Amino acid sequence: RLYNQVIELKGNTRVFCRCRPLNHDEIAKGSTSVVDFDSAQDNELKIIGPDSSKKQFKFDHIFRPEDRQEAVFAQTSPLVVSVLDGFNVCIFAYGQTGTGKTFTMEGTAENWGVNYRTLEELFRVSDERSDIMRYQLFVSMLEVYNRKIKDLLVEDADQPAKKLEIKQSTEGTQEVPGLSQVPVHKTDEVWELLKSGSRVRSVGSTNANELSSRSHCLLRVTVLGENLVNGQRTRSHLWLVDLAGSERVGKIEVEGERLKESQFINKSLSALGDVISALASKTDHIPYRNSKLTHSAELFSPSSADLGETICSLNFASRVR
Ligand code: ADP
Ligand code: MG
Repeated sequence: RLYNQVIELKGNTRVFCRCRPLNHDEIAKGSTSVVDFDSAQDNELKIIGPDSSKKQFKFDHIFRPEDRQEAVFAQTSPLVVSVLDGFNVCIFAYGQTGTGKTFTMEGTAENWGVNYRTLEELFRVSDERSDIMRYQLFVSMLEVYNRKIKDLLVEDADQPAKKLEIKQSTEGTQEVPGLSQVPVHKTDEVWELLKSGSRVRSVGSTNANELSSRSHCLLRVTVLGENLVNGQRTRSHLWLVDLAGSERVGKIEVEGERLKESQFINKSLSALGDVISALASKTDHIPYRNSKLTHSAELFSPSSADLGETICSLNFASRVR
């Protein structure tokens, strides 16, 4: 209930922005940071152009290079927990390749990201509620490349891939008939499961980074809830999405497969922008009324070498806000 009030006050979309630290290569090449953080505000930053002009961007929250995974998750956790109240939630990471989308969502064994922390939190809260609610959690993982969907949690990765499609159900939710759903009961199981999913993702590609920059990776958590007091049942989805790289692909150099690819990526990213704009707008005609909470983490590089992409990416993110 409290959560509903928060949503009402703040609308149903949040846009966060995370700036990663400059990496060794960038420092070695003499790149400098183009970001000016406002020391008094945690929701504003300025990008400094080559002529020293400053362009301001506002978000719901800004994570600075020194902010750790815990800080990012702290902002995210109230929203992910709402899936236990029967809300559908979507979090996605948008940004140029190399800006930290996978680091933020997937993380590493030393630095768990949003995905793992989310499941940990869902288990914690469902335990806390165990005297009034019974929950069952299932995890699915899929990769979307061009129009093809690959199940990342198949038992045998060498089997020829099943043809999967995203379908809209009668209740208006997105379903993928035939997609593996793995029941999960405790945190220990989850890290290995997520790791095996990302291993399947990179099978067949000579360069995992190269492929991940061109495909979307979606983790879906399905929650079945049963209220032990009044018998009411809920079914909801939480989508955690690591999007394809947002970099523009030069139109002239690109042809064949790569052209088709970049068209699909651009199309899906712009469709996403439209959906979020609709969600963020104050009209009564929100397509996914009361069922979709959209929540995005905008990732970018502070490096002067990436200035063009960074501006482009921040413009996208502030449009949807
Ligand atoms: P993307 O998925 O957007 O292409 P990655 O998540 O693979 O980018 O990040 C690129 C590199 O930068 C990785 O080596 C990653 O560990 C590192 N990195 C990204 N964000 C951070 C951060 N906030 N702090 C430290 N290292 C980071
Ligand atoms: Mg990545």
